[in-house]
Amino acid sequence: MNASQKVTVWPAGVLARFLTDAGATVDLSYEALSGTIVAACTGELCGWAERTDTRGLCTDTPEQERARFEEWLPVTKKRAQTHAEHCRLMTRPGSAA
Ligand SMILES: [Zn+2]
Repeated sequence: MNASQKVTVWPAGVLARFLTDAGATVDLSYEALSGTIVAACTGELCGWAERTDTRGLCTDTPEQERARFEEWLPVTKKRAQTHAEHCRLMTRPGSAA
């Protein structure tokens, strides 16, 4: 890796991310307990998030859960990508505003 490559730490549980024009990311993760796919923008002060309920049941087998996840993931991905393409919010470094 050369010095110009940015080293980015991926939070635990983040499955994929989209880069916004402002250099933030929209991170995708899955909450197994609630069967929810979450997309959240890391842009400071943005706060955009999208939660997709995959309508899981606690009696689902791992295969059924996987099928639900794969069925709903494209929906969340599309919304996350759309947000990433439009989110240009930047905050002044060191600024609280
Ligand atoms: Zn955003």
